[in-house]
Amino acid sequence: MELSMLLEMAAEGCPDRVAVGRRADGLTYAQLLARARSLGARLAGQDLQHVGMVDTNSEAVPLLVYAASYAGLPFVPLNYRLADAQLQAAVRRIAPAVVVASPEQAARFPGIEGITVVSPDDLARVDAHDAEEPPSGGDIAILLFTSGTSGEPKGAVLRPSHLVSYVLSTVEFLGAEEDEAILVSVPPYHIAGISTVLTSVYNGRRMVQLPAFSPEGWVELARAERITHAMVVPTMLGRILDVVEADGEGLPALRHLSYGGGRMPGTVVERALRLLPDVDLVNAYGLTETSSTISVLGPEDHREAAASTDPDVRRRLGSVGRPLPSVEIEIRDHDGTVVGPGEQGEIFVRGEQVSGEYLSHKAIDDEGWFPTRDRGLLDAAGFLYVDGRADDVIVRGAENLSPGEIEDVLVQHEAVAEVAVVGLPDTEWGERVVAAVVLHAGKDASEKELQDWVRARLRSSKTPSEVHFVEVLPHNETGKLLRRVLREQLA
Ligand code: ATP
Repeated sequence: MELSMLLEMAAEGCPDRVAVGRRADGLTYAQLLARARSLGARLAGQDLQHVGMVDTNSEAVPLLVYAASYAGLPFVPLNYRLADAQLQAAVRRIAPAVVVASPEQAARFPGIEGITVVSPDDLARVDAHDAEEPPSGGDIAILLFTSGTSGEPKGAVLRPSHLVSYVLSTVEFLGAEEDEAILVSVPPYHIAGISTVLTSVYNGRRMVQLPAFSPEGWVELARAERITHAMVVPTMLGRILDVVEADGEGLPALRHLSYGGGRMPGTVVERALRLLPDVDLVNAYGLTETSSTISVLGPEDHREAAASTDPDVRRRLGSVGRPLPSVEIEIRDHDGTVVGPGEQGEIFVRGEQVSGEYLSHKAIDDEGWFPTRDRGLLDAAGFLYVDGRADDVIVRGAENLSPGEIEDVLVQHEAVAEVAVVGLPDTEWGERVVAAVVLHAGKDASEKELQDWVRARLRSSKTPSEVHFVEVLPHNETGKLLRRVLREQLA
């Protein structure tokens, strides 16, 4: 099944419903389909390898996803936050291509051979009437570069079958109510941004695009457009809650809020439950290479865990819930043996939505298992706990220590606003535990106090040997902590 089929089904099922844009003047599903077909036919007639995009969220994103599908070309949304030289190299890699970019962005990669730049305004003028029949379907639907949190970004190849499997296994066809609207605020070059577009279309939900995230802008648009659904990355949620708490006006229309893309501190989840009691919360865990979500902690799980006095149930608030029924997950130790419930290891995943394929190589074995490079465990009830990147584990002496576990304890201290724990080279232990802490404004804590705090709650080997107080922690643009940058700063 081609990706474009998802749009065709929605356009047939709810042609007059607004697909993207504001309630008053958005494009309907029928209009979006007509434009995507027309643009696809034009793109197919040119000698292109890719359809690129270097721009913030806009109505162009859903249009391009499906137009590229009709043209049989991979859609490649590039990270507009890359430095100019990196961006130019990335654009050069996808030539010959049409690249959609605002004049401001386009000025950053001028005169690249084989690249035709089109502005989003030009796209909006594509005439949908005299569309020729587009060819349909290419091998690669979307080429997406990973966040590069652990090294150089890798070009993940997502084929139509992966993305369609993901959509079909996660959402119900046209399941959305007439009044539902989703705020798309994760950038288009991130899998969470793209997967929101794909699922919303199949679901028949109106998409409202937020070009650049600010917590005030997010809250204002959510209220003005009566947003019912949203997906955010961890740092966004904390900042949104700050705004909601300060003005006390809540988010009256919001019913469902998904978060994911990185580890969410338990304190933020508890705050969300308190400040947005009527909102269904979902923690979604996934990777670019798995076409987005593979495991979810649903609304009922959140409520049950928050209300429980049983520590095993309460702990689930810090889990990523249970694997989707359509995927299998195994935890394997360092020699590849599958371990039992409660035991730590590397998370492996298998399922039709799992690509595990990069431009340069495949990382999926013959039986379809893909190593996520995340460490974690499955508990006896089947809940998955993600500890973080296997590369981030601190090896102190012969012990493997999880930075996440130590961070979870430190962030519960009332003076700590944000924390990151990393391992730094140590002559005695191989690596030592070092914490970088951002304090809440007006609050104070000493290094010794925080060390004692951890020592009282975890084994002594997990106590940071140093605590550094910093103004900010290094994050990438989707809010992911850049541990390798922090390690360099602290070293
Ligand atoms: P790179 O692969 O280039 O280092 P990256 O890991 O940031 O970059 P992405 O595909 O954007 O690439 O992110 C996937 C990773 O994000 C997962 O492997 C996991 O470590 C983390 N992650 C995603 N969702 C969650 C979640 N809900 N909870 C905890 N961690 C998550």
